[in-house]
Amino acid sequence: MFGVYAPGEEAARLTYFGLFALQHRGQESAGIATSDANAITVYKDLGLVAQVFDEGKLASLTGDMAIGHTRYSTTGSSNWANSQPTYRDLGDASIALSHNGNLTNTADLAARLEAQSASSDSELMTQLIANEIAAGADLPKAIATAAPEFEGAFTLAIMDRNTLVGLRDPRGFRPLCLGRFNDDGWVIASESAALDIIGAHFVREVAPGEMVVIDDNGVRSHFPFPAVAPRMCVFEFVYFARPDSTLYGEEVHSARQRMGVSLADQAHVEADIVVPVPESGIPGAQGYAARSGVPYVDGLVKNRYVGRTFIHPSQSMRDLGVRMKLNAMRGVLGGKRVVLVDDSIVRGSTTKQLVQMVREAGATEIHLRVLSPPYRWPCFYGMDTGDRSTLLAAGKEVAEVAEYLAVDSLAYLELDGLLAATGVRTDGFCTACLSGRYPTDIPTTGDKFLLERS
Ligand code: SF4
Repeated sequence: MFGVYAPGEEAARLTYFGLFALQHRGQESAGIATSDANAITVYKDLGLVAQVFDEGKLASLTGDMAIGHTRYSTTGSSNWANSQPTYRDLGDASIALSHNGNLTNTADLAARLEAQSASSDSELMTQLIANEIAAGADLPKAIATAAPEFEGAFTLAIMDRNTLVGLRDPRGFRPLCLGRFNDDGWVIASESAALDIIGAHFVREVAPGEMVVIDDNGVRSHFPFPAVAPRMCVFEFVYFARPDSTLYGEEVHSARQRMGVSLADQAHVEADIVVPVPESGIPGAQGYAARSGVPYVDGLVKNRYVGRTFIHPSQSMRDLGVRMKLNAMRGVLGGKRVVLVDDSIVRGSTTKQLVQMVREAGATEIHLRVLSPPYRWPCFYGMDTGDRSTLLAAGKEVAEVAEYLAVDSLAYLELDGLLAATGVRTDGFCTACLSGRYPTDIPTTGDKFLLERS
């Protein structure tokens, strides 16, 4: 998610590059909305940022203010209608909205809207804010009135023709930062790495529960929610965020290296080489190798260009599964006792195939080391994990997981070690998928397609 207020600049082009840096956060669809102070223009489609936009489309998105979005769906199908930014035509007060996260009271909000249909939680929020504007509120007031009714995870970028607003839910499940561009420009972005790509400099993180309002008068800060303890997703540190981003003031790459150091202390094993599962296992494997004294070796090669494509593989190719993304090097792995380091295991099907691939490449022992605790409870805050029955470690002991994966040993980083490795001392985390301790009420059904069925 990205937003820019940049007087005199091509906001669409800046947003394109910002989204490019944030492609890892969603690969199903991409979109940009711009304002030239007279009208809002939106273009969005299914696909990666570079597939959706070209020079002609960017040129048609005129104006010096914009918001953008890359989608990873957790409520609603992966179709064009659910791509973002969402838009509501309110004449002079029209709005566009981008959302990162997932609401937990979607069914309640949908019931309140009655005849006004919406097929995603993001559409519901857009409609509720639009209703406040239709009742006479300006954009900041409409958001401040509507947002306290939303529950769950919602980091938002919203704009009308003249004002850009960034908002984090009171627990701050998903990140948002504020940057400065030139003398009078401002940027809001899910991650600080998206500021770097356009030459903006990092000002600060938007605080959990904070709303920043950006217009001709500069930046103003509001706190429309009652204060609660912050609960940023700890998986932002483990997997989601780019290693060159900073969260809660800590660089993600360094935190991942510390996770590997802690894991080496916690679960050392005699071995010949430490091999990462690329990409997010790399810093952790570096930390593990440095601490244990076992050499770090790249034994798996990742195809960097595998994204979501519109060409469906044949069934026989689908059976190859993980081989579309990763390949093992026999010359590196053959005859070796391997410590294989991965960031997490959710469903386990990829990991099982990967272990088999490393075995077929000639590894004599495989010791799997995971940079987070067993993933046993579903996420309702923006990670599409399905229900508990799909989670490999749910209801299983570690030894049972090891047997299923056919590894010689398996160890997960303990939760205390993970939290310490983030380097964050004062602010709080959501750990619900690892601990079962949910920081909010959760829906009785995790039905992703709830709104489309009703
Ligand atoms: S449940 Fe897990 S993945 Fe979801 S927000 Fe909490 S820590 Fe992150």
